[in-house]
Amino acid sequence: EEDINKVKPEYLKSFVFERKLMPSTWIVVRIDGRHFHGFSEVHEFEKPNDGQALNLMNSCAVAVIEEFQDVVFSYGVSDEFSFVLKKDSQFHERHASGIVSVIVSFFSSKYVMNWKDFFPQKELKKPPSFDGRAVCYPSTEILRDYLAWRQVDCHINNQYNTCFWMLVKSGKSKSEAQDYLQGTRAQEKNELLALQFGIDYQTLPVMFRQGSSVFWDKEDPTKIYNDEREGKCRKKVVVEHCNIIQQSFWKAHPSILD
Ligand code: ATP
Ligand code: ATP
Ligand code: MG
Ligand code: MG
Repeated sequence: EEDINKVKPEYLKSFVFERKLMPSTWIVVRIDGRHFHGFSEVHEFEKPNDGQALNLMNSCAVAVIEEFQDVVFSYGVSDEFSFVLKKDSQFHERHASGIVSVIVSFFSSKYVMNWKDFFPQKELKKPPSFDGRAVCYPSTEILRDYLAWRQVDCHINNQYNTCFWMLVKSGKSKSEAQDYLQGTRAQEKNELLALQFGIDYQTLPVMFRQGSSVFWDKEDPTKIYNDEREGKCRKKVVVEHCNIIQQSFWKAHPSILD
């Protein structure tokens, strides 16, 4: 009798401790590739930026946005993506573990499914995995600060990596390149690229410099198309490489964070 009581669901559920994420706040789920330094070497990604690897990441983000209604915006760079859920989202009753695990596993399986579309000549040799976390941001202003932080990070890393790999490709060892760049400022890195390698940083592909923003385009009427199956107008998910730090992007897309 006593033993049977112990398998009662209410008894076992009483051990579950899960707090809801704060109500009426933007939820950001950031996922990041696990050991992608090694993953990118095993799959011989171009350095510092493999465009196809980034396009593959973007295709998975498009799928996430199409699948999960509450995701209103996402921003990605390198092996990471941030997904913004609308403030009043009740997805998984705002339980972080539910929200994060579902987005992370969906993204990972999409990555595997889409791999051959982006790397038709390359075998996928390892199962990619991603970590994920959820953070609440209580105001639109702070959410935009968060997104600006990720984009600044993109710029700083890309500038460093571009210099690093130019030095390595020109014959320096990795540790020599690292020492060479130690303590240099942004201006000096730009000069290094220009003077030593004849590269104008501003002319590098915009996806490498700005990262990728993925969202439903509700403003541009050319992005609204007729879905024949549903017999109504649907908006299209777009991938753009733009400055999301400046006010102008958010002014041009007022419905994203309305
Ligand atoms: P962790 O598991 O802690 O995240 P990590 O090896 O994934 O470790 P990150 O700081 O996330 O480390 O950095 C991701 C690394 O993956 C980059 O440093 C870069 O070497 C590689 N990488 C990711 N995307 C690309 C890409 N598109 N092109 C080239 N390299 C890439
Ligand atoms: P949710 O997204 O809320 O988890 P769900 O449809 O996954 O919804 P569950 O309560 O997790 O609902 O139940 C899983 C369902 O998947 C089962 O009801 C069953 O219909 C189906 N299912 C899972 N595994 C099997 C299996 N091996 N054989 C047949 N059906 C299965
Ligand atoms: Mg990583
Ligand atoms: Mg990373």
